[in-house]
Amino acid sequence: MPQHNLIRPCPHCLTERTAFTHISHNLIAGYLRIDTESITARAGDVFNTLWACNSCNRSVGIILKALEDISHQYIDESTINLFSEIESYPRVPDSVPAHVPDRIARFYLDAVKNQAMGIPHGCGKLCRHVLELAVKDRFQETKGTLYERILKLGQSGKLLPDMVEWAHEIRDIGNDATHGDAFTEEEAEDIRLLTEYMLVYLYTLPGILARRASTGAGSGQGGSGAS
Ligand SMILES: [Zn+2]
Repeated sequence: MPQHNLIRPCPHCLTERTAFTHISHNLIAGYLRIDTESITARAGDVFNTLWACNSCNRSVGIILKALEDISHQYIDESTINLFSEIESYPRVPDSVPAHVPDRIARFYLDAVKNQAMGIPHGCGKLCRHVLELAVKDRFQETKGTLYERILKLGQSGKLLPDMVEWAHEIRDIGNDATHGDAFTEEEAEDIRLLTEYMLVYLYTLPGILARRASTGAGSGQGGSGAS
């Protein structure tokens, strides 16, 4: 028997394409008749729908509005264009900070997914790897182990003192994850957040300044001057 089914990215387990099974819906405004499996609505009807991810069993809500009269339809990928999607929640997080190179973004996204799927040590190892890739990419002239690179970047002023501390923290926590020490979800969240802000510092902020400079909006290009 057909049933209401949608294919979406999951905001909880971050699976990119997974099936969502319909759990329930209720009317916000309009006529709408809801039968066990099919839906009959008039154009303009607005209703809540609740769906469960088939990968992680957590739920998302989607508010739909019927764009035309609908009679005994199943909501699925072939009929979803009969509705406009007013809102869905929670939203799929924008996981990777802007301007991070694809190669590094892929490892960071894997770290985020490991955390979402309850694999904290996987998240820890990947975050340490992301830091190592980012430091090598941004400061190619600085050589040595990750520990030595962070020290040298701090001494030369290329990393601010706070960033040096964050980088060592990511390295330390990542080493714990690699060496099989007990590793908690709290530590995974700590290292993931520190790594996110390192990426913002190393890529997103310089990317914004480069974009502003390229459009003539930067402070060196006739901006508001020294005031
Ligand atoms: Zn899921």
